[in-house]
Amino acid sequence: MIIVMNKSASNKDVSDVIHRVEDMGYQVHLSRGTERTIIGVIGDERVLDSQTVEQLSGVDKIVPILKQYKLASREFHPENSQVKVDDVVIGGDEIVVMAGPCSVENSDQVLEAAVTSKEAGAKVLRGGAFKPRTSPYSFQGLGEDGLKLLKEAKEKTGLPIITEVMATDQVDLVARYADILQIGARNVQNYNLLQAVGETQHPVLLKRGFATTIDELLLAAEYILSNGNYQVMLCERGVRSFDTKYTRNMLDIMAVPILKELTHLPVIVDPSHSTGKWELVAAASRAAVAAGADGLLVEVHPDPEVALSDGRQSLKPKTFAAMMQQIKGIASAVGRTVGADRTVEREMVTN
Ligand code: PEP
Ligand code: MN
Repeated sequence: MIIVMNKSASNKDVSDVIHRVEDMGYQVHLSRGTERTIIGVIGDERVLDSQTVEQLSGVDKIVPILKQYKLASREFHPENSQVKVDDVVIGGDEIVVMAGPCSVENSDQVLEAAVTSKEAGAKVLRGGAFKPRTSPYSFQGLGEDGLKLLKEAKEKTGLPIITEVMATDQVDLVARYADILQIGARNVQNYNLLQAVGETQHPVLLKRGFATTIDELLLAAEYILSNGNYQVMLCERGVRSFDTKYTRNMLDIMAVPILKELTHLPVIVDPSHSTGKWELVAAASRAAVAAGADGLLVEVHPDPEVALSDGRQSLKPKTFAAMMQQIKGIASAVGRTVGADRTVEREMVTN
């Protein structure tokens, strides 16, 4: 449930209510909006003495949250949540672009991807070290060596790192190197893993699975939130469809405004895995920005033809820079910005 305070409630009213509810054995989550202050109550609501709380000074009303997910819901936290990674803010005015290779392959590859992506305006470096591959015979990632290469690229470029963690026993290791923990599509309902990343204070990017409903995604996020980690972002990365001839997955673009309505958590779109083809990535990115995404997760490789994974959908640095130019205009049309450290010339999208 949430306690909605009166507009005129004083700071003392708010802290008195918080203390009272905490004394009853509940945890609280305070959300101070520009319009109103809301106190979220976490715990077994069936035994809460709501009449007493309703009579406290400054309380306007008590609203039960009927949805199964509570901490993830907009009712619980009406303002957009922001996730902070070093000096990057995700969920604010700026659309944050995270870019880099599908897999970390070697030092030159990851560094070149990092430097060129940064020049084009990316704010976070992506790269997989533990890879969830469909076939056990495919490249499985460099493991900890890959994490070290990401860290080196961070030292040289200053870009914070997002990388995937696949198992509970990897969480400590990956968290030593990564700034953002990525939970991949295949692990969206791995509840032990969600609980383990929920016990860290690391930002988490939770990817929707290819057959995950929006409510299932929000309940998966609830596992992380309910373990005390509020630094959570959601990622739409395409769902499985009947037509796999032209795209690898189907980008569910409506998931973006729907999620923005249902939850306060930042929403990221992955235009690479949702299309599977580099030539569709710019269009998917433009659509995502227009639909209200807070960020993009894009695969960029200096030489996609020789990539050890997902080369077909990876942009070359030049194409990525051209795409970044295209989304700037769309971002400004929807009242957002896309950061760039320097202006890159507008050019045709050819990979
Ligand atoms: C990835 O980002 O490299 C990845 C494996 O994505 P997904 O989990 O969405 O397939
Ligand atoms: Mn990939």
